[in-house]
Amino acid sequence: MERIRHVIDGGLKDSATGATFMTTNPYTREPWAEVALGGEREVRAAIDAARRAFDEGPWGRMPVAERVTLLHRFADLLERDAPELSRMDTLDMGKPYGDGSGADVAGNASHLREHAEHARLATAPTFPGNGRHHIFSQYEAAGVVAAITPWNLPVLMAVSKLGPALAWGNTVVLKPAEQSPAAATRLALLALEAGVPPGVVNVVHGFGPGAAGEALASSPGIDRLTFTGSTAAGAAIGMLAARHLVPVLLECGGKGPSIIFADADPELAIPMSAMAAFANSGQLCVAGSRVYAQRPVYEEVVRGLVEQARAWVVGDPMDPATRLGPLATGEQFARVQGFLEEIPAAGGTILTGGAIPGGWLVRPTVVTGLAPGARACREEIFGPVVVVTPFDTDDEVVALANDTEFGLSASCFTRDRGRAHEMADRLRAGIVWVNTFGVRDWRAPFGGYRRSGVGREGAEHSRAFYTEAKTVVLGY
Ligand code: ADP
Ligand code: MG
Repeated sequence: MERIRHVIDGGLKDSATGATFMTTNPYTREPWAEVALGGEREVRAAIDAARRAFDEGPWGRMPVAERVTLLHRFADLLERDAPELSRMDTLDMGKPYGDGSGADVAGNASHLREHAEHARLATAPTFPGNGRHHIFSQYEAAGVVAAITPWNLPVLMAVSKLGPALAWGNTVVLKPAEQSPAAATRLALLALEAGVPPGVVNVVHGFGPGAAGEALASSPGIDRLTFTGSTAAGAAIGMLAARHLVPVLLECGGKGPSIIFADADPELAIPMSAMAAFANSGQLCVAGSRVYAQRPVYEEVVRGLVEQARAWVVGDPMDPATRLGPLATGEQFARVQGFLEEIPAAGGTILTGGAIPGGWLVRPTVVTGLAPGARACREEIFGPVVVVTPFDTDDEVVALANDTEFGLSASCFTRDRGRAHEMADRLRAGIVWVNTFGVRDWRAPFGGYRRSGVGREGAEHSRAFYTEAKTVVLGY
């Protein structure tokens, strides 16, 4: 049994009570590590450490170029330990190991580097011409950032908070998801190894409601709260932070459409929409879980998705051949099962897929015949399940795609450039992919309309969130 502890004030810590909980490997369904169970006391200690590091430590006064050097070193160490971080994510939540050690861990290091470079090169406006005054602005670190992250991409989520928060000079208390705690502790140790001073990156493990998460979100001692997770948890957390007027960044759920027009390249559109639906077992906030196919290609799209679904190898996430591991938790597995069980009664047909008995594996699942009001068409399933629906006109598909309480991402496939622009304008989502899926650039805004969240991440947006803007007026 491996052990995972808090990182507070630069050291590995157990909880004051000695309490622990287990994290389960979703493939074997056996506990693989024992985790320190933090509560209010550990949260308070971590916030105090972060406050001291901000107010008194070298971090707060460090020239930006030095801070940036440390963040590049942190990124180097993340790259060095990518295999170990990937292993931790695989054991914690079942992500195929090959997935994590490839593109997405490299992407994580670049997340640290690009925010650091943005901070290094950033300027701030001056306001000339105001008579006998010199007026300029500056951006100052906000202070102590509380970060609460989900289990679906543990390393990526932690780094997406640490990168901009640290780049802009803040200190951090991170509470990773209780289902996938391991990588966060390792990341905090790597930051220390890189030379980031003690107390700048703290990690407290524990649960959400009524526990460590709630203690962190409701603390008057934090200056920012950044969260990624479900819409319900985001709303709860936002209300806690509002009591002390703490600004929040909430990245919540989605129900992304993938629209395939008759003029699309099927060789591109079908595999891309399969990837959008099935990657990470559908446990992505940007998953494309609703496919709309124009009538002339509807049958071809359905056939193609079924073929794709059957070709994805499902199994042991440590096996390099595996493209889909298990769902992350028994709870998530039961939830996805619940959606699948309702489909026949709602008039739908499961053409391929479903759960594999004796574990938490779900094969890529293709569903047709559902009306737009069906629960599987409206709620975020967070499983490898795609619902395919035909449409006739552009107006009709825009209405269908936008008929959702979410608005995080959308993709569409067409060879018609004018139509691509029209779709980009008319789809109510924070990111619209045309003839592609999943491409992110850390400089570009990322975030959701409506119940998909509050605020945006991405270079300038991250600066706005993680800093205080100040105006200075100097009389001549
Ligand atoms: P899931 O993706 O399983 O739905 P959640 O969105 O519930 O996960 O949780 C995402 C993160 O938010 C986790 O770290 C969890 O512990 C935390 N969390 C959930 N609810 C609350 C809450 N009411 N207060 C503070 N933290 C919470
Ligand atoms: Mg687990």
